[in-house]
Amino acid sequence: MILNDWHLHSQFSSDSDERMENLAEAAMRLGMTRICVTDHYDMNYPTGEFQLDTVAYLRKLGELREMYRGRCEIFSGVEMGLFPDKEAAGEAGRYMESQPYDFIIGSVHCINGVDPYYRDRIEADDPELYRMYFACTLECLRACRGFQALGHLDYVVRYGYDKGRNYCWEDYRDLIDPILEELVSRGIALELNTAGLRQGLGFPNPQSGILARYRELGGEMVTVGSDAHRAKDLGYGFYAAWEILREAGFRYVTEFREKTPYFLPLDT
Ligand SMILES: [Zn+2]
Ligand SMILES: [Zn+2]
Repeated sequence: MILNDWHLHSQFSSDSDERMENLAEAAMRLGMTRICVTDHYDMNYPTGEFQLDTVAYLRKLGELREMYRGRCEIFSGVEMGLFPDKEAAGEAGRYMESQPYDFIIGSVHCINGVDPYYRDRIEADDPELYRMYFACTLECLRACRGFQALGHLDYVVRYGYDKGRNYCWEDYRDLIDPILEELVSRGIALELNTAGLRQGLGFPNPQSGILARYRELGGEMVTVGSDAHRAKDLGYGFYAAWEILREAGFRYVTEFREKTPYFLPLDT
């Protein structure tokens, strides 16, 4: 089967200048019949970047949907930055629950108010950094409501000084298991994000072992996204993603329409 791309950025994201039309064109060239655009909205991002003009964004998505009707179905999504403190979680939750998106990815981009992208601002060795990230993710999950999938769990390893070479998810199982259990019990999907493959980590986020563990704990909903910020990266590593999902014991991939999941068999 051809997997559709359920994590994409366009010029509505602070860190992308790609035109949405180019995403749709790239998807059609790869034979995808549907895509979901998920631009960033990080309400409390420390530098003030990653804000989203929701009205203009939804208007543009509506235009695109019309433009590609009958050729490629355009779904509306957003990647929401999650923060653990009560006020931020409440504000984000009200937004997520009130806006008419098809799909919302909840992603943790900051640890105690610092984006690990600025690695030198966090005094910690790599294992400590990863541990802080997973602990923060668990806190965010417990504090936040309104999203359908957890984005790129373990992507923090891309900021490790050793670029994830010594990373083994099982060293963090005491934090990762409760994260996965929380997802399963609340019916939140786990995202398989292939950006790690593109960026030379050698594995997607999360690592395949975490996907297998999620399955073992009863998790069934996995969404797949490239996290492309440029049209040329759309769909990157999707054959590998398909293989990883099958090997981890999944028979279906999940997409969302109006925040409701539907399932597509992997073997067709
Ligand atoms: Zn992200
Ligand atoms: Zn993203």
